[in-house]
Amino acid sequence: MPHPTLSDVTSCLSDYDPNALPVAQAQAIIRDFVTPIRSVEKVALRSALGRVLAQDIVSAIDVPAHDNSAMDGYAMRGADLDGAQPTTLNIIATAYAGAGVETKVAAGECVRIMTGAPMPAGCDTVVPQEFTQAATSTNVTIPPGVVKTGDNRRLRGEDLAAGKPALLQGRILRPADIGLMASLGIAEVPVQRRLRVTFFSTGDELRSIGEPLDPGCVYDSNRYTLYGMLTRLGVDIIDMGVVRDDPALLEQAFRSACENADAIITSGGVSVGEADYTKQIMATLGDVTFWKIGMRPGRPMAFGKIASNGRSAYLFGLPGNPVAVMVTFYFFARDALLRMMGADNTPLPLLQAVSEGPIRKKPGRTEYQRGILSTDASGRRQVRITGSQGSGILRSMSEANCMVVLQHEQGSVKAGDLVDVLMFEGLV
Ligand code: AMP
Ligand code: MG
Repeated sequence: MPHPTLSDVTSCLSDYDPNALPVAQAQAIIRDFVTPIRSVEKVALRSALGRVLAQDIVSAIDVPAHDNSAMDGYAMRGADLDGAQPTTLNIIATAYAGAGVETKVAAGECVRIMTGAPMPAGCDTVVPQEFTQAATSTNVTIPPGVVKTGDNRRLRGEDLAAGKPALLQGRILRPADIGLMASLGIAEVPVQRRLRVTFFSTGDELRSIGEPLDPGCVYDSNRYTLYGMLTRLGVDIIDMGVVRDDPALLEQAFRSACENADAIITSGGVSVGEADYTKQIMATLGDVTFWKIGMRPGRPMAFGKIASNGRSAYLFGLPGNPVAVMVTFYFFARDALLRMMGADNTPLPLLQAVSEGPIRKKPGRTEYQRGILSTDASGRRQVRITGSQGSGILRSMSEANCMVVLQHEQGSVKAGDLVDVLMFEGLV
């Protein structure tokens, strides 16, 4: 199937207006336009942490490989239990983890057993040691009613059954998954190759760390927040620095970015009336659209695909304001990059919390305010907005532990109303 153009994608939308685009529509266009890379490599089990699983992992063995005890105690036949009277059994052997016993257990007999030891033949139940009475080295007494037949026994294959998928392709591998594959004896894991993402900042007023701060200039912070967010996402990054507002330098930067990466993220230069060349050059190099999104912060954004010398890359031209960069990254670029990585992509999980104060909001745009989520004395989640919400005030992000997401149609919030909240913790 040929790759769709942006106009193929947007022509399906009856009410598409690039100058007043709702967040949900921008997200849908990006999702339809971006396709996953398909390139698999094998890595050692430990190196698979945080990578995207490229093929289903099917268990070749039963885990556990045999029925075994879940407790330290006595393995016995459930049929020997007396519902009303204590039961006394002869201890005929001891079973340790990693070493089963050969003997078959007959009626009136039991085996002293340790956690993880294979269940001896004939046994179906384990009585935990702490429930027994009068244990000697030769016999043990079990009071009535402390266990039922089948208790404290782990069944063969109850964790993973042979032939069943243990993990599905597209999963971003977490510590438990690495352990699970270890339990199957898997040493190497097929993962998607890492996505290569390059980024640079545009603007004559930007200075890099180490340079003197000339009058009217600011230090470039966007490359550092982008570095942080991209690193957490697990992509390979190429930092191209600050590119001046010079047509030849910008064109050179965009061309080299295309040739070296799967995706390009720039910040700055996409606002209306901006006296620079960024937008012009983006447009000449490919299929790029410029949006004014119904959101705050983060209204202007460029999106598309550009090409140079036969190599192409997706382009996210994020706005320059430091908070807007983060918000547009989390709500547009993150999703697209995960999709390119071939990762399972569930929508960002929103919690609900009580707003501690009123929040002014106009219907018809989505607002992302920086908040501090806590619990009140009764354990209820509550959220308050961090001070000033200007899109240039990065401190508001740094102080916050969440974003309050005020949805498109929503109007002003009263103190005590429930609002949607996106936690930063756990968010890459
Ligand atoms: P622009 O989108 O280029 O009009 O930039 C909007 C605002 O964000 C301006 O005040 C810029 O100085 C500021 N800005 C742009 N890029 C950066 C950056 N990389 N780091 C910090 N501030 C920036
Ligand atoms: Mg600028």
